[in-house]
Amino acid sequence: MKRVAIIGSTGSIGVQALDVIRHNPDKLKVVALAAGSNARLLAEQVAEFKAEYAAVSDSASYRELNHRCECWTGQGMEAIAFLASLEDVDLVLVAVSGAAGIYPTYKAVAAGKTVGLANKESLVAAGDLIMPLAESTGSTILPVDSEHSAIFQCLQGEEKWVSRIWLTASGGPFREMEASRLGLVTPEEALRHPRWNMGKKITIDSATLMNKGLEVIEAHHLFAVSYDQITVVIHPQSVVHSLVEFVDGSFLGHLGVPDMRIPIQYAFSYPERWGASAERLDLLHLGALDFSPPDINRFPALELALAAGRQSGTMPAVMNAANEIAVGCFLEGALGFTGIVSAVEKVMGHHQTIKNPDLSEILAADAWAREACIRFIKE
Ligand code: NDP
Ligand code: MG
Repeated sequence: MKRVAIIGSTGSIGVQALDVIRHNPDKLKVVALAAGSNARLLAEQVAEFKAEYAAVSDSASYRELNHRCECWTGQGMEAIAFLASLEDVDLVLVAVSGAAGIYPTYKAVAAGKTVGLANKESLVAAGDLIMPLAESTGSTILPVDSEHSAIFQCLQGEEKWVSRIWLTASGGPFREMEASRLGLVTPEEALRHPRWNMGKKITIDSATLMNKGLEVIEAHHLFAVSYDQITVVIHPQSVVHSLVEFVDGSFLGHLGVPDMRIPIQYAFSYPERWGASAERLDLLHLGALDFSPPDINRFPALELALAAGRQSGTMPAVMNAANEIAVGCFLEGALGFTGIVSAVEKVMGHHQTIKNPDLSEILAADAWAREACIRFIKE
């Protein structure tokens, strides 16, 4: 029986993870659940899965949580970090959206936990801290992001013969849209992802291709490959979840239906595989699989993220935080779609990178970037 904590249990990944647990009651036990502010759903989850600990980050939601739950309850970043490092938890799934995932990920890794990592932003901002920390505490990081789960599965034991990682991207809802129309797209259009049903932030990131930029940085940290060894390829069918090219010219790819319960369950079952209730791929009726290069003129977020990754230090945290703010402003109607990347670029241009930052310097850079981005957008 694996004892599990889920940080971000009320979101898209969190709810799907609980569905996987629901189908594997003899293998997985929920110990702790945490969310941002949705105390009502969190309390329902606590009751269904008989969780022993629950926490919310939002102070206004705590009263409701405490009122509805009989288990241990807590509020704030430290309470959530406590749940991520509990003695009797084996596996922590970090399914928080955005930079809010940095601290619980860091704490879970520091405590030597096995970490199922959906939250890519924590590695983007703090990968240079988290990966060496995992090495020293013996923490295993199991990627949940579908591309990285795919690469992880293709790599098993053959890391030293990798020549290239091919990161697939659906291309998002605006893959074929003319550049002149991109400035006019609405949040509703951008939220209509052709393949995946996800939280709002990652859905907008998928439309700008910033998501793929974040994933390049995530892959760089997870698999210790240089940026020159990672190539993004547009694959609209989202059937090949990514590939590894080896020195001998062999390619290994991972295929499956686009259903996040597959990579979530793999992080839970690793190193085993369990039967799944997700739909199966039917190769007889699949038809063509297409691959093409991304258009970096229409989707400059990809290059911008790569530049931040290459710069390293505090720059990726700044890029990530500015993007979170800009995406939020776009969703509120305060910024146009193409304004997202312009705002991120402007914030990056005003940042003096600190090399080899510690956690507090990363969090300070994140806070600075948020404030700067709001200021630039208001101007
Ligand atoms: P959602 O927005 O759907 O869910 C986010 C979750 O995090 C919610 O449970 C939310 O709680 C919680 N949360 C927000 N802020 C905090 C905080 N400060 N402390 C604790 N919990 C918090 O996001 P997704 O599930 O779509 O994405 C989660 C992560 O997984 C992201 O990093 C994303 O990039 C990654 N990912 C997601 C995929 C997907 O298919 N959704 C695919 C691949 C990666 P509340 O409900 O109370 O606000
Ligand atoms: Mg992904």
